[in-house]
Amino acid sequence: MSETTNPPTNFIRQIIDEDLRSGKRTNVATRFPPEPNGYLHIGHAKSIVLNFGIAEDYNGTCNLRFDDTNPGKENMEFVEAIQRDVKWLGYSWDERLYYASNYFQNLYEFALELIKNGKAYVCELNAEQTREYRGTLKEPGKDSPYRSRSVAENLDLFEKMKSGEFEDGTKVLRAKIDMTSPNINMRDPVLYRIRHGVIHHQTGAEWCIYPMYDYTHPISDALEGITHSLCTLEFEDHRPFYDWVLDNISVGCHPQQIEFSRLNLEYTVMSKRKLTQLVSEGFVNGWDDPRMPTLAGIRRRGYTPAAMKLFCQRIGITKSEGIVEMELLENCVREDLNIIAPRRMAVLDPLKVVITNYPADQVEQLTLPNHPQDESMGTRLVPFCNEIYIEQEDFLEEANKKYKRLVKGDCVRLRNAYIIQCDEVVKDDYDNIVEIHCSYIPDSIGSNPEGIKPRGVIHWVSARHGVVAEVRLYDRLFAVAAPDAMANKEDKAFTDYLSPDSLHTLTHCVVEPSLTDAQPGDSYQFERQAYFCADLDHGNGKVVFNRTVTLRDTWAKIEQKGR
Ligand code: ATP
Ligand code: MG
Repeated sequence: MSETTNPPTNFIRQIIDEDLRSGKRTNVATRFPPEPNGYLHIGHAKSIVLNFGIAEDYNGTCNLRFDDTNPGKENMEFVEAIQRDVKWLGYSWDERLYYASNYFQNLYEFALELIKNGKAYVCELNAEQTREYRGTLKEPGKDSPYRSRSVAENLDLFEKMKSGEFEDGTKVLRAKIDMTSPNINMRDPVLYRIRHGVIHHQTGAEWCIYPMYDYTHPISDALEGITHSLCTLEFEDHRPFYDWVLDNISVGCHPQQIEFSRLNLEYTVMSKRKLTQLVSEGFVNGWDDPRMPTLAGIRRRGYTPAAMKLFCQRIGITKSEGIVEMELLENCVREDLNIIAPRRMAVLDPLKVVITNYPADQVEQLTLPNHPQDESMGTRLVPFCNEIYIEQEDFLEEANKKYKRLVKGDCVRLRNAYIIQCDEVVKDDYDNIVEIHCSYIPDSIGSNPEGIKPRGVIHWVSARHGVVAEVRLYDRLFAVAAPDAMANKEDKAFTDYLSPDSLHTLTHCVVEPSLTDAQPGDSYQFERQAYFCADLDHGNGKVVFNRTVTLRDTWAKIEQKGR
């Protein structure tokens, strides 16, 4: 993972390089400005890694700023979750934690300045009339009849808006720009609206007028001395208004807005509105459900910050829109876990094996490496006795040569332990295999005795020492790569494409005893199976693991077979 130490350049870094070279800027200050109306998702990680990464590499700063101008949908749970997630990615805003609501008084005063300079007015058109006057992409808009009010009248009305004399929706403050502009965002956009009866999580009931995002954002950036204001492409058409605001108030700082393309990822949705719906309608078990593309979800699933950063690095920063393949994300976490995850043995679908020639009262503690390629990860003791479990799928009564596991009458190596041979199959009245009887070959640990050639290697867990575990097998949340596009095309809801296979819970797994010591969040490779991490529910007598990702990309193949 050498890439992480050497971030590739991109068009934004090139702009910054040039700004520093030419002397246009002498420092670099960025910000990450989430709206606290939901949990952060993988798309936000792209923006976080970009903004905080640039600050790190240019010896600059990155502020965390809550864009909290929409009190109805925002709350403290989200404010706290967002801070947790940014920290988890490994970034620090030090003391630079801000809220756009910190600036409500400044924003109000700048609005007064605009009014005094004849650049803003109080408008009384209702919503429908406003739409009508705005025009369309092809048709220019018309001036509002309230546009030519005097400065004195506007100041008076705006003051009354602020002091709560008017009802919601009856008046707004608008910028006076150009109703015939080809850019609809410049047709006298709204600066302030009236919102009675909402309690803001930071300012309580202090204000009943709230500034619009497009007005708030440039001023917040300027007040914080941001140099490069990085946002996603949908704001490209808003940039003229961003610049207009800063050109028409006396704030004395003009950050540069630069847009890049959003991250879209296959087999999931990324809009907060849709994620909110998945949570509130119970399609998933909360914001941190390990199937969710939220940072809280993928963390619980076992993704690591290093894997997320590697992913962000690989997708890069451009202006071209696209949808990133899920394999790219999965490969990043596989690569990281392959290096850092200790190996353990776990049997997910147990078949009992009795080793008839091994003394029933004997237990050996075998010393197993924690990582086959990394000695520094040490060893652990794993008990072996005359009763073990292997996977059901690792045994067949008859099989051809291609089956590299245990077959009746033949032998196989138990991972890091003895070679066993299957002598007898015990069945119930319905012909189901209940257990198998094997004999072990003494002195076969570490090498094959003369003339004995095991078919392959399988994992195992001592039946007397193993611990019963719940294992949650997670898969992709949606059954189709582009649920949004599909729903539009087929005129259905995106939730119609949720995958019925996104979670299978196994409750009778048996894992090696050392796994009871795992802490929630600890990752392991269960040998020959997949990467797993201890769930938040793990501990206090419960043993619960989540599948993070399979060892190889088996998904495409399974899909072709029709699942
Ligand atoms: P959504 O559309 O999911 O509700 P948003 O853009 O409204 O997201 P914000 O909380 O406003 O969410 O986003 C904070 C920052 O993260 C913004 O600068 C935004 O551009 C960026 N961001 C959001 N989604 C993505 C994405 N999918 N890819 C890259 N950056 C994103
Ligand atoms: Mg937003």
